[in-house]
Amino acid sequence: LELPHLSFFAGAKIPSSIPPERVPEVAFVGRSNVGKSSLINALADTTIVRTSNKPGLTRQINFYAASRIFNMIDMPGYGFAYVKEEELIQWGKLIETYITMRTTLKKIYVIIDARHGIKLADVNFLEMLDKKDVKFQIVLTKCDMVIPPDLARRYVVVKKKLNQYKNANEEPLMVSARKKAGILNLRKEILQTVEA
Ligand code: GDP
Repeated sequence: LELPHLSFFAGAKIPSSIPPERVPEVAFVGRSNVGKSSLINALADTTIVRTSNKPGLTRQINFYAASRIFNMIDMPGYGFAYVKEEELIQWGKLIETYITMRTTLKKIYVIIDARHGIKLADVNFLEMLDKKDVKFQIVLTKCDMVIPPDLARRYVVVKKKLNQYKNANEEPLMVSARKKAGILNLRKEILQTVEA
């Protein structure tokens, strides 16, 4: 199972540069360094996002077209330790505009490091998604770094935490970009989401 060919078509640093709505979209977000770029590349099965190009520094939303069928959106990471207040406000405005206005946005995949679980920066983001009525699903990544019994426990804890959110998909997904585990399953999930 493969996704349609993905190609970059727009980057938005400010709300007015967000491209017009055309096709269904899914977006990826997470704390800086969580493994978002690696995951998007694994899904695409090619390097479309440079992992050295740290999104914590380039605060823009990147739009990738999947053969005009749907779009995959790479959102700038949050929870970066050293950002200027000014930058944070700009990030907030951009993200908030995108997620509140975007009628074509079907789901946000919130990427969580399987070693760390849901942190405060994640909670803040999830609460915003709930408030804005945006559907989301948790993707636990770097699962190769956690031994199976700990991973099983982590999964249960995360799943339980999701009860408090009305817009959360109740099933967290588990992946490893490095070992290419869970990638087919996530592709399938994405295709179902954009076709729904
Ligand atoms: P981003 O800042 O969220 O885009 O994170 P990157 O994709 O750049 O990854 C951050 C670091 O985590 C890099 O050193 C990656 O090699 C590593 N990484 C990403 N995904 C995985 C994974 O599934 N397993 C392991 N072990 N390391 C990963």
